[in-house]
Parts: sequence; C-alpha cells; structure tokens
Amino acid sequence: MFSDADRKVLAQSKLFRHISIDAVEEVLADCPVYELAAGDVLIEPEQENHAVYIVLEGDLSVKLAGREAFEVTHLGPGECVGEISMVDGQRPSARVEAASRTRVLVLGHASMWALLNRSHGVAFNLLWILSGRMRTHNKALETTRTRSLEFEHAASVDVLTGMHNRRWLDDTFARMLRRCYNDSRPVCLLMIDIDRFKVFNDTWGHLSGDAVLRHVSRQMSAHMRPTDLMARYGGEEFAALLPDTSHEEAMGIAERLRGGIEWASLTLNESGETVRVTISVGLAEARVEEALEALIGRADAALYQAKENGRNRVESAT
Ligand code: GH3
Ligand code: MG
Ligand code: MG
Repeated sequence: MFSDADRKVLAQSKLFRHISIDAVEEVLADCPVYELAAGDVLIEPEQENHAVYIVLEGDLSVKLAGREAFEVTHLGPGECVGEISMVDGQRPSARVEAASRTRVLVLGHASMWALLNRSHGVAFNLLWILSGRMRTHNKALETTRTRSLEFEHAASVDVLTGMHNRRWLDDTFARMLRRCYNDSRPVCLLMIDIDRFKVFNDTWGHLSGDAVLRHVSRQMSAHMRPTDLMARYGGEEFAALLPDTSHEEAMGIAERLRGGIEWASLTLNESGETVRVTISVGLAEARVEEALEALIGRADAALYQAKENGRNRVESAT
C-alpha cells in the first residue's frame, strides 16, 4: 500500500532505523497521510498535539514560538516531529509548517503505542530521537549562555580603552561601597581628568587623542592595586574606587599615578614623536553611608579645585 518511494523513506527514517518495515506495516497501514501545501501549519504552540509525524516527501520548517518566530531547523524526508508533545502531553513549544508541498505520515497516539508494544526497536529509536533533541537543546542553552555573557561584557566594557564603562561603575562601585560600609572599612574615590585634552586633540588629531586615552588607562592599571576598581567615567575622565584605603594612603596612590603619567612619554607615530600628558585628580574619602552620587559629587568638586589650582595636581574634598 505504500509506494516504493515511501517505503524507502520509511526504511531510512529515524524512527524505523534498523527495523524491517514489513514488521510494522500492519500498524502503519492504518495511519493517514496528510498532504500539506507550502505554509500549511502542522503543529502550533497553542494546540495540543497527539501524533508523531514522519516526513515522506517535501520539508517542514520548525519555528520557535515567540513574538517574532524564527526558524530553528528544517526537517526533510525520514525525519519526524511531534514526539515530545505526544509523549509528555504538553502543548508543543514550536510551530511546524510545510516549507514546500509536503506529505507526512501521521502516527496517532494509538498507532504509536501499538508500534511501541510490537517493537522494542521502535521504542529504542524513539528514546534515541528524544536524547538527540535533548542534546541539541543543551547545546543551544550553552550557546545562549555564552552569547549572553558576551553581550553582558560588551555592555560593561569601553571599546576604546578596554576598561569598564560607566554602566559597570554605577553598579559595581555602589556594591563595593555598601560592603565597605557594612564592614566599617575606609574607602576612597578618585576622579581623574586629562589636562587640556581639547588642545591636545586640536594639535595632534583625534586619533592621537584616542591613543592618549589608552595610554592613561594603561598607566592607571600599572599604578593601581589589584583590589582597586577603575572605569572610564566618560570622555577623558576616569574614576577609581579604592577599598580598604585611608585618605592618606589614597593620597599616596593618587600622587604616584599623577607623577607616573607626568613622566611617562607616549610615542605617537613611526617618526618617533613623543608626547606627554598630565592629569588632575579629585580625591574624596567616603563618609559613612554616603551614596555613590554624593561621593562622586565631592570628588568632582575636588577635581575642579585641582584644575583651578593649576592642573597636574591632586586635591582632596573637604
Ligand atoms: P581641562 O584641563 O579643563 O580638563 O581641559 P580639557 O580640554 O581637557 O577639557 P574639556 O572638557 O574642555 O575637553 C575635553 C575634550 O576631550 C573634548 C573632547 O573632544 C575630548 N574627548 C572626549 N572623549 C574623547 C575620545 O573618546 N577621544 C578623543 N580623542 N577625545 C575625546
Ligand atoms: Mg573633562
Ligand atoms: Mg580634561
């Protein structure tokens, strides 16, 4: 009753792998064949599904349900679909439709059980198919997790300098402050701004300006301790939070950084032209339970003072 072509497809299908079709033909003979035109829907997330479908001819497109359905896979002759929702009785998670003119063999609930009773091979193949789905699912989860970590990283890192950005700072500095307050440990904030950077850009060009930003970021990493948190605050401003650090110690660190940058020269181009830049720093020691914004405000005021007092210097908030 099956055409030779259909028999061949069934013999090579995943569900009847290593099984003689003759042995199950009696059950299959009772199963209807659906003819689908391109776009016809076979399985929908909103609708319960009580059958496993084997593609005899054509191909099915499996789309993940969501606001914007996107195709996850294509199923060709011999492949099957619907087994998960048929086994667990829950609504399908994907939408399956014909990608072209397609014929599918429909193994309803009763036929499926008849097949499973009749043949251990079919039971084994069904388990094998389900395991394959689980593995694919796990791989997809892994990829999603990796992607989401990559996005998270991209969202918290400044592309130009590789330092953390303002978004990261707002979250991480606030959490570190809270920890220091809870443990009654001193903590200081430095706001750092490159001196006369606009003039530098105007003189040397924006690309050289970018190189200076990377240079300052490297100097910061070199002069700070592993426990210090630092970030590009915006433009040519940087911020550093120094946990477990008294005002006096923070002053020492800020001075070392300022001096380091003052004396480090940066080679700009192949002809060996070197430049130097200076920074001004505003320092504030956190008051007990002071909010991050307030602390930044005081360090900023100190930075403004450092600019007023001639730049290339560190000033403390009162
Ligand atoms: P001051 O000593 O008072 O800080 O003077 P300044 O010129 O450094 O300060 P101002 O705020 O007037 O100028 C900051 C400049 O920083 C202007 C802007 O073009 C430059 N800038 C901000 N972000 C970038 C960047 O990503 N790349 C480059 N090359 N320049 C930047
Ligand atoms: Mg500035
Ligand atoms: Mg500046």
